[in-house]
Order: sequence, then C-alpha cells, then structure tokens
Amino acid sequence: MKRGSLKERLKLLLATKNEDKLRELRLLLSGLHLELITFKDVPSYPQVEETGSTTRDNALQKARVLHKRTGYLSLADDTALEIDALDGAPGVRASRFAGPKASYEENRRKVLELLKGVPLEGRKARFICSIALIGDGVEEVVEGRVEGVITSREREGRRFGYDPIFLVPSYGKTFSQMDEELKNRISHRGKALRLILPILKELILDKERSG
Ligand code: IMP
Repeated sequence: MKRGSLKERLKLLLATKNEDKLRELRLLLSGLHLELITFKDVPSYPQVEETGSTTRDNALQKARVLHKRTGYLSLADDTALEIDALDGAPGVRASRFAGPKASYEENRRKVLELLKGVPLEGRKARFICSIALIGDGVEEVVEGRVEGVITSREREGRRFGYDPIFLVPSYGKTFSQMDEELKNRISHRGKALRLILPILKELILDKERSG
C-alpha cells in the first residue's frame, strides 16, 4: 500500500466537541501523516465532566476516558484563563464562568463587567493550555502559556471564547483580530501542541515501520 493511503495512517482521536478548538487543532496537525477522528466518527462518544482543579488533570482525564472507551490514541486539551485582577478567575471554569450553560458572549460580558474601572496595568491575564496524549503505552501531558491583557471592550474578528477581549500587547491585536495561522504560532494551544509533536511524529514512524 502506498504512503498516503488512508488505511495506513495512524488514527488520532481529537477529544473535544468544541468546533473552534477542532478547527485550530486540525490546522496545527495538518501535514502530519495522521487520520484525524472526531466525536462525529464515534457514535458512543462519552460526555466527560471536567472535575479537576488544573488544566493538566482535566486534559488527562478527558484523554484517558476517550482512549479507554474507543481504543484510539486520544488527544485532549483543556484551557484556563487566569486574570490577575480577579485572583486568577475564571481559571479552569472559563467555559462556565457566567453559569453552567453560558455562551461565549455571556462569559466575556461577565469578565468585562467585573473589570470595569480597572486600569490597564491591572488587566494582565494568561491562557494556560494542557494537552494530554493517551494511547497504548503512551501517557504524555504538556503545557503552553501566553500572556496578555483584557481589553475594556470587545474587538472585531472571530468570536471564539475570550478571543475578542484577549490582547497580546507585542502585536497590538486581540486573538480575534489575528489570522488563525498567527494565533496558532503564539497561542497557548499552539505552544502546547508543538511540544507534543515530536511524540506524535515518533508514533507515526512506529506505525509506518510496523506496516
Ligand atoms: P475548555 O475547558 O478547555 O473547554 O475551555 C474553556 C473555555 O475557555 C472555552 O469554552 C472558551 O470559552 C475558552 N477558550 C479556550 N481556548 C480558547 C482560545 O484559544 N481563545 C479564547 N477562548 C478560549
């Protein structure tokens, strides 16, 4: 069978239902000799509760459950947003900050409301992303971070999560204003993913050697 055939590729389950994360992960993994699997390909895809107090625990938990249920090599990411003026909130509760079923917009509005009147120096924040990779004999977890500042109002561009209010001062742009290639180059998720790439590449080579 020729290299490039779908049958030969190492299968990797992306353990998230978040379409925005999936889009970024697909872009970051493009070019690798992988067959990417998502929840749409797994009829019994389980709902995994995020009960950990760190992104590391949550990413490991998601990837372990998904690997156990499906047998696929599984990659999970978990992201926290820490804002200094809010004593580190929303933290790992970033998706539920304004309530259990809060929309991206409601979460952003709550952050902007709580930071009203806080000067720029006090609006420092960071995204922290852990990525876990779990498979047979594989258990890896890595972390990527990016520092920024919460703007006083939403900026234009993509509406993913806190992107419209997360400004990276050295670029003078929020994540929402950057094209995805630039965001991936400097983001928490991009940095974490690049740390896991050598391990993925090794697994791809093993798969190719074993046919
Ligand atoms: P999760 O717990 O990893 O699913 O992420 C928590 C929440 O953080 C998401 O629902 C988004 O609101 C937000 N988030 C995660 N990654 C990003 C990002 O790259 N940009 C903006 N917001 C993000």
